[in-house]
Amino acid sequence: MSEATRDIEALIELMARLPGLGPRSARRAVLHLIKKRGAVMAPLAKAMAEVAASARECAHCGNIGTADICDICRDDRRATGEICVVEDVADLWAMERGQAFKGRYHVLGGTLSALDAVGPEELRIPKLLARIRDEGIHEVILALNATVDGQTTAHYIAEALDGTGVAVTSLAQGVPIGGELDYLDDGTIQAALRARKRL
Ligand SMILES: [Zn+2]
Repeated sequence: MSEATRDIEALIELMARLPGLGPRSARRAVLHLIKKRGAVMAPLAKAMAEVAASARECAHCGNIGTADICDICRDDRRATGEICVVEDVADLWAMERGQAFKGRYHVLGGTLSALDAVGPEELRIPKLLARIRDEGIHEVILALNATVDGQTTAHYIAEALDGTGVAVTSLAQGVPIGGELDYLDDGTIQAALRARKRL
C-alpha cells in the first residue's frame, strides 16, 4: 500500500468511529469529500480545526459552545426562575430546536446508575443544587429520558428538593404529535393515559 493510500485509509478509519457511520459509509463519505475537495472537504477541515480549538463546556450549565459561559447563561432574558434539567448536551439542543422553553438549562452529563457506579458526585447534581439556591430558581423541569436510570435520577433530584419550596415538574410522556395509537408500545399508551388532560 502506497503512503498516499495509507493516509486515505487512516482517514476512513477515523470517520468510521463517528456515531452512525460504519466502515462502508465512512469509505463513501471520504470518497465524496475527496471528490468535493474545494467545496466541502477544505471548508470542513478548517471548521473542524477551529471548533477543535475553541469548543468548551459552559462553566454554569454544561452546554457546549465556544465561550466559558454559553449564550443562554449570558442572556438575562432567560433568567426566568425556571431551569430545565437534561442528561446530555444533545437533549439541550433538541429542547432549543423546539423553541418552547424560555428559561435556562442544566446538563447532568449522564444519569445515576448503580450498575456503572455513577453517583451524584459523578454528575453535575451538586452544581445543580447550588444553582437552584443561588439563581432564585422556583421551578425545576426534569426533561430526563424515560429509562430506568433517567427516572431514578429524576426521583433523586425531586427528593433532594423536597421541602425547599421549589416546584419539580417533568415533561409529559405519551402520544407524539402526529402519532397514531396503533403504532405505540404498551408503556407509551399507559403513560399517555395517566397524563391525560381535560379538553
Ligand atoms: Zn450555560
